[in-house]
Parts: sequence; structure tokens; C-alpha cells
Amino acid sequence: MAYLGNPSRTAEVLKKYQFHFQKRYGQNFLIDSHILEKIIQVSHITEKDFVLEIGPGIGTMTQYLAESAGGVAAVEIDKSLIPILEETLADYDNVTIIHEDILKMDIRALAEEKNNGRPVKVVANLPYYITTPIIMGLFESHVPLESITVMVQKEVADRMQAGPGTKDYGALSLAVQYYARPEVMFMVSPSCFMPRPTVGSAVIRLVRYQENPVTVTDEARMFAMIKAAFGQRRKTLINSLSHAPALGISKGQITDALEKMQLDCNIRGEALTLEQFARLSMLISF
Ligand code: SAM
Repeated sequence: MAYLGNPSRTAEVLKKYQFHFQKRYGQNFLIDSHILEKIIQVSHITEKDFVLEIGPGIGTMTQYLAESAGGVAAVEIDKSLIPILEETLADYDNVTIIHEDILKMDIRALAEEKNNGRPVKVVANLPYYITTPIIMGLFESHVPLESITVMVQKEVADRMQAGPGTKDYGALSLAVQYYARPEVMFMVSPSCFMPRPTVGSAVIRLVRYQENPVTVTDEARMFAMIKAAFGQRRKTLINSLSHAPALGISKGQITDALEKMQLDCNIRGEALTLEQFARLSMLISF
């Protein structure tokens, strides 16, 4: 089977199967071989790796992954793409096509079965409407992961990589950076997809930390505080945390904690580092 990563081959396959794009599944297929090669290059895949691909579409990137990796599992929600994938990937005996919603799958069990529980690499041109639940789901369900290399909306990539005091910094930056080191690799123009998305795209690589960079006694408590701090990001940290009923923290408790940390009592959440949020969560007992 010839490579699919160009407009004419893609159109040919779509026509043969009378495939209609489904907007609700975020279907924007890659049609640029140069971008596909770059994704493979920055994901550092070798034949020792097992790769999980989320949303293979018609199998364009899957072909490249199958040639570089030891094994690939490609999870696709759209039933009408399964017969297409069976044909476009017929030449590869190291690919498993799985018809499933990635958000409902037990990915840990898949990694256990396919890679004996060893860390897998995730590579995907993600459906943008569920970028955050997919990435946070991978981290929070403790899937054994080495890295995640994904195409996402450009603004989302910026938010994942942002640091304190910048406009893009928020709960997503802290959540991602608690688990992994993010690095935006390159931008991708809408013209590299069929159909063209209305937003710009970027490929970001998240390298999973072996150990989390900060120590916390209660992860859920820290993330609840982070969420409250950025839920009302224009307020001071004291106001946003004390006004979040679910937290049940008094202004006095926050003031005491900020004093111990030698931070100004007018500070906003957006100025705090991950380490400072971790410390704060441990100083304030609910
Ligand atoms: N990998 C292909 C490519 O680059 O040409 C397609 C990428 S397209 C942006 C996203 C793919 O994810 C689509 O094939 C879509 O059907 C699939 N998808 C959407 N939601 C999904 C879900 N919840 N679980 C698995 N696949 C999903």
C-alpha cells in the first residue's frame, strides 16, 4: 500500500469508501508527508518501542509509526474508519486496530497486555475537542508512559508549556508540568490537513518524569486549590481560595501560610510556581 500522506492518495481512499468527515469527532487528516516525517523524528521512536496512537483516521500516521516502532495499537472511535484501516494497514503485522472510545478504554490494561506493563509512547494527531481529558486521563490513570508526542491546537500547546506570570499560565500548565516536561516542537499550518481546521496547530512533546518534580501529601487537594486559584484569576489568591466553598479555607489560614512562605498577601495565583502551590497545599489543612 502506497503512503497516504498526500492530498491525492487521501482523496482516493475517502472516495473509494465514500467516507464523510464527522465534525463531532474532530476529524482533520494529515496530508503532508514532511510534517509526518517530522512527527516521527521528534517522537524518538525505535523498534524497541510500543506506540499507542489515538485516532488513526485512515491510517496515514499509523503507516509511519508501524515502520519505526516494534508495535502499534491504534484506537479509533469511528466505526466507518475500521474497514479503511484494515486495508491501509494490511501490510503491517505489528499494528493492532482497536475500535473504541479512548476516554472509555482501560489503557493500563492495554499497556500491560501489549508491552508487559513497560512504558509506552503515545503519538497522535489528537481530536482537539477532547485534548485535555485525553492527556489528563493518561497521566491520572497512571498509564506507564515514556512520552506523549501530540498535535494539538496551538493555544493549548502554549498553555501546557507556560510558566508563572504569563497570560497562558493556568491549571492546565500546572497539571501537565506536575507529570511531564513539555516542549513545543513546531507549528503546523491548517493547509497540512484535510479538511483544514479553523485554528493553528502545534506538535508538543511531553516527557514523563520518573518522579514528580514536587512532593505533596495530597495531590487532589493541591489540584483543587489550583483550580480555585485560576477559576477567578483576577482576584488575589486569598480571595479566590477563601471564596471557593468546596475548599472550606478561611482567609486567616491562607494569610498565615503566605507569611510562612514569605509571599505578599496580595499575590495572585498566576504568580505561584508549582512548588509554591505544593507547599501551600501542605501548609493549609482543610
Ligand atoms: N491520525 C489521523 C491523521 O493524522 O490523519 C487522524 C487525526 S484526526 C485529527 C482525529 C482522529 O481521532 C479521527 O480519526 C477521529 O475519528 C478520532 N477520534 C475522535 N474522538 C475519538 C475518541 N474519543 N477515541 C478514539 N478516537 C477518536
